[in-house]
Amino acid sequence: MLSYTDALTRLLALARPTDGETVALADALGRVLVDPVVRAMVDVPPFDNSAMDGYALRAADTPGRLEVVGESMAGAASVSDVRPGSAVAIATGGPMPAGADSVAPVEDVDLVGGTLVVPAAVTLGRHVRSSGHDTRRGEAVRLGGSLTSPRLAVLASMGLGRVEVRRRPRVAIISTGDELVEAGAMLGPGQIHDSNSVALAAAAVEAGAEVAVLPRIADEADAVGGALRSAAAGRDLVVTSGGVSVGPRDHVRAVIEADGRLDFWRVAIQPGKPLAVGSLDGTLVIGLPGNPVSALVTFELFVRPFLRAMVGLAGDGRTRLGATASARLPKDPRRRAFMRVVVSRSAGGELVADPAGGQMSSQLRPMAEANALLVVPEGVEAAEDGQEYEVIMLEAVRDQAP
Ligand code: AMP
Ligand code: MG
Repeated sequence: MLSYTDALTRLLALARPTDGETVALADALGRVLVDPVVRAMVDVPPFDNSAMDGYALRAADTPGRLEVVGESMAGAASVSDVRPGSAVAIATGGPMPAGADSVAPVEDVDLVGGTLVVPAAVTLGRHVRSSGHDTRRGEAVRLGGSLTSPRLAVLASMGLGRVEVRRRPRVAIISTGDELVEAGAMLGPGQIHDSNSVALAAAAVEAGAEVAVLPRIADEADAVGGALRSAAAGRDLVVTSGGVSVGPRDHVRAVIEADGRLDFWRVAIQPGKPLAVGSLDGTLVIGLPGNPVSALVTFELFVRPFLRAMVGLAGDGRTRLGATASARLPKDPRRRAFMRVVVSRSAGGELVADPAGGQMSSQLRPMAEANALLVVPEGVEAAEDGQEYEVIMLEAVRDQAP
């Protein structure tokens, strides 16, 4: 059985970057530039302008009494020049008039019968935003990572309206299992609601994928084979849940092995041991275990970093911290465990990890309650009360109840 790190390394080695597509900035939130180095089309700011509402003037004329000869508002070129002894009223963002070198803010001056009184000396260049002082035209600016609101703003300020980003990975999500019915449907004898389709589709969207949820597959080898092949067509990744264990009606792994190529099966983790990875017709297939917590945890540990790698993002994008377990949680010593915990900051400032509830892989509500996974290494039989472990934060650290 592969270790967690070996399995992740082998999976990520199979990731191929998607091709690029050009999108408007309005559609680029969360996307990743194909080339993170972008050249500015214009100087930022494009012209010398005022940082304050006030008067553009010559510092050498201050302190003193000046004649106001015009105005420079934002959005238009300044018409009046500033000659010795004169000033131009200027708005924040208004272009600096020719001849002016500084701005005196409204708050620092007086207008007495049409004459501007500047009582104190103005420092040369004060409150002037000179052209190109943020970025020069043609300058290379690196915007790595996914596009956030500030990064989009930088692109807009540099004169770009559209950018080339990595295409979202196309992902098919399929649940397998004779017992499953659609969320919201009436249950017959022995049936349960298909929560994995809902959960995995949402998790894939969160990880940046373009998702298609395909019809559930019955536990029959022929049905599994046909459905997986048609899911693979035109997609970058097929994610299944269920049917990868050793039961008589678990067909997913066998079908991948028979019709395609199985890269690996079973990883020494808890939950999620029966994870299967392979490909069909050149499309990667990741078979997640059916238990709802196993499906979500293995998505988090494997599918999420894989989807990110396909658009050129490193890692899983999660913060890792250290937190002290507040209870003993037994585990299988042969496997690395990822336990559902709530991490909060104690009064003393230390991070504490409380079990979010039962740790069975069928127990979804503790998974929903948890804000982190507590990582307990191979070779030990439990997470020990009072000992510190790595936690993978899925949400923010919680405030402890007072
Ligand atoms: P399997 O991996 O197919 O043996 O499934 C393991 C357990 O997970 C069984 O109790 C299944 O009923 C349950 N399960 C499988 N698929 C789903 C699903 N899509 N939604 C909710 N539970 C599931
Ligand atoms: Mg099943």
